[in-house]
Amino acid sequence: MPHSSSLILYNAHIHTLDPDRPHASALVVVDGRIVAIGDHTVIHAYQDKAPNVLDAQGATVIPGFIDTHVHFTITGLGLLAVDVFGADSMAEVLERIATGAAERPVDGLVVASKFQPELLPEARFPTPLELDAAAAGRPVYVMEAGGHWSAVNQAALALLDLHDSIPGQQFDESGQFNGILSDEANTVAFTKLWQRYSDAIGVERAFDEAAAEAVRGGVTTLHALDDMQDIRALLSYGDRLPVRVVPYTQSKDVAAVKALGVGQIGGCGQVMVNGDFGPHTAALLEPYDDDPSTTGKLYYSDAELDAYVLESHLAGLQVGLHCVGSAAVEQLLNAYEAALTRHPRPDHRHRIEHFELPAPGQAERAKRLGLILAMQPSFNHFWPHHSEYPEVVGEERALRVDPVKSVLDAGLHVAYGSDSPVTPMNSLLWMHSAVNHSNPAERISAERALRLCTETGSWFSFEEQDKGTLAVGKLGDFVLLDSDPLATPSQKIKDIGVLKTVVGGLVVYGS
Ligand SMILES: [Zn+2]
Repeated sequence: MPHSSSLILYNAHIHTLDPDRPHASALVVVDGRIVAIGDHTVIHAYQDKAPNVLDAQGATVIPGFIDTHVHFTITGLGLLAVDVFGADSMAEVLERIATGAAERPVDGLVVASKFQPELLPEARFPTPLELDAAAAGRPVYVMEAGGHWSAVNQAALALLDLHDSIPGQQFDESGQFNGILSDEANTVAFTKLWQRYSDAIGVERAFDEAAAEAVRGGVTTLHALDDMQDIRALLSYGDRLPVRVVPYTQSKDVAAVKALGVGQIGGCGQVMVNGDFGPHTAALLEPYDDDPSTTGKLYYSDAELDAYVLESHLAGLQVGLHCVGSAAVEQLLNAYEAALTRHPRPDHRHRIEHFELPAPGQAERAKRLGLILAMQPSFNHFWPHHSEYPEVVGEERALRVDPVKSVLDAGLHVAYGSDSPVTPMNSLLWMHSAVNHSNPAERISAERALRLCTETGSWFSFEEQDKGTLAVGKLGDFVLLDSDPLATPSQKIKDIGVLKTVVGGLVVYGS
């Protein structure tokens, strides 16, 4: 999609986030960029240059949202899979899988996404036999909402070719495989089964679905954290999408990433530093409270991570890696410090993704190293600190999960995102979550949250000259909202609706 249209917008309540002109009521976009912004008189000189005129009817306008952490392909594939989100019993989960299987091609793999076992009264995964019954014996893959566990039946297991030495295959008391995969076995399932589903559906269809979902949420730029094959497809297809995409390749093959001609490497998937709390694969400096025999799991040795970070750094790439627990943060800080000490690079903007449970002092150390944090405040909305965390990591550490305000107090640069499909690409929900954090000590103001959803997001990908605020010379990327998030009671920010999303002067949603 050529993001270079022309548009006159007037009768708007614009928060520009530009300190030189914080408020305006009209702006003009010519060939994709803002050429004038101010009150209604600025539009007069452009009436023949921008034939499209949009009366905002008093709507609030803000810079387009920037989602700095999206798994783009999986988001699209997930929208095309069986959605079991919000099911209130195991029976309903199985019923949705049965209906979904019947609607999809016979014999093919059945994929169910956004499964949340902790919210079911049964609090468990479906068994292989239950999945066989629901899908008439076809292979079934059920991915947990966070992506760090999954359930499969025997037919899906057979597609994985997992040998016994791969960790994460779980067994019941009698030694029978119980269908649950975590750790490396889950990563194998994630990679192989989504790939199979993608081949069946067509990855471009998944891109279209995910892009449509993004612009519905007011997102005008997203950072796509995807595997090599998908990034390749995205690089050739991206211009046709309504949303702008910045690729972060999830690959350990630094030379191959460099050869793509992109500037970033990293993400989650195969390059994660650790896992997540539920399966006890988030790596902590102190043991888990509900299983003191473990401190979680680091996915690299120190030497492996040091070498990967150093090679990426020397290749001139910006690095960002999934890092949840304090031991993973420590390992990544050490790797960044080693690379930056030997080969200093000004303004590297290396990232840490998530930073959910750092130990005291790690935020300050990250700041000293010039690192920046891609965080997802809506984790706290769906999994507040008082939910399972006190049981899993204890009361004291639970209070420190998703430290939205502490990291800003430490002086760190932070930008927001969804980790979609883990949480939705709905920036108003990120704002809402940061403003209404379940731990009152971690709440921030709506204005500050808005900047982290827009302005700092542009800086994260070295695009602050083009995006993040509304000013002359910047791209015409903005969103019309049905209420002003800076004047809405904090409890209602998540209910604000996106009326229109505009990218490069082109209305891509709500036309
Ligand atoms: Zn992620």
